[in-house]
Amino acid sequence: MKAVTTEHHRAHDVRDEVYLGVPIPAHEVVQRAGIIKGALVADGGFDLVEPTEHGELPILAVHDRGLLRFLEEAWGEVRRQAIGRQSLVADTYPSLAMFEGMSREAIAKLREPAAIGGRAGWWGLDSSNPIVPGTYEAARWAVDVALTAVDLVLGGERTVYGLCRPPGHHAARSMAAGYCFFNNAAIAAEAIVRATGERVAILDVDYHHGNGTQQIFWRRGDVLYASIHGDPMRVYPFFLGHADEVGEGDGVGMNVNLPLPAEAGDELYLEALDRALEAINATPGSIVVVSLGFDTYRDDPIGDFALTRAAYAEAGRRVAALGRRLVILQEGGYHLPSLGKNAVAWLRGVEPVG
Ligand SMILES: [Zn+2]
Repeated sequence: MKAVTTEHHRAHDVRDEVYLGVPIPAHEVVQRAGIIKGALVADGGFDLVEPTEHGELPILAVHDRGLLRFLEEAWGEVRRQAIGRQSLVADTYPSLAMFEGMSREAIAKLREPAAIGGRAGWWGLDSSNPIVPGTYEAARWAVDVALTAVDLVLGGERTVYGLCRPPGHHAARSMAAGYCFFNNAAIAAEAIVRATGERVAILDVDYHHGNGTQQIFWRRGDVLYASIHGDPMRVYPFFLGHADEVGEGDGVGMNVNLPLPAEAGDELYLEALDRALEAINATPGSIVVVSLGFDTYRDDPIGDFALTRAAYAEAGRRVAALGRRLVILQEGGYHLPSLGKNAVAWLRGVEPVG
């Protein structure tokens, strides 16, 4: 199996994140990608490929230009505005309630502030997502990893893994969030739709609901989004991810949320996976984008599921049994000692030999 990896992710070297108002050691760290890459090399069955640059256009097919410009300019503005911090973390985010009663016209006049702290709130959701000097560089390369994986699959590869870091599925059209800046999986899916004219399914098996991917394709009839995740009544991203969110307009029925309770184990999880795969089977198309996360693991410090490694191998087998080509992109997973073995188990489940 070809695996697209790059060392450029190292530029996004985050040390702390803010959780419930208090700085804690970051979970989404540089070591994550190195551990997975090391496990792929040790396995011997993966052909490592460098990404190629794809420019801004595929990103702008999915994201607001303002988000791209903000991320590009953010660190330079931190320095120009003499903010004496190691990273940029907003503390003021627009709430829906702030604009209650205002007309559509009045809301349309709202504008991005000039102060970089305000800009970070304008384009952000939460404080777990610090921007450091190399964030933009790394986030751009993560998109290129995803798009190179797409190129390889469109070129005839059956299954390609893209080791994206930073991850992407919380990033919406106009919002960075939850360790994510650009939505790698959504950009990949959009590129596939445009290249093939086919419908595309996105299977999101990260522990968290991919609110960004859901938002981007909410009204789209040509992209199916199916996600298995911790119930948002209990966990991040809190405000989206419920089972009754099914899409609107052309997208009705093309959004499938499967929230699970705490301590969900292999059996419950694989049942939910079967339901997601049924929805994908019922949708035409030949390519599936997988948002792959291992924060579902029983020892993960963020997630509260109880999956074992055996479930990952089985999940890989069941996804492969769809008989579709796969663009598999890395999202979360924060238990460093297990991360590499879990990734190899899942990918080897898909493709046992070679
Ligand atoms: Zn996650």
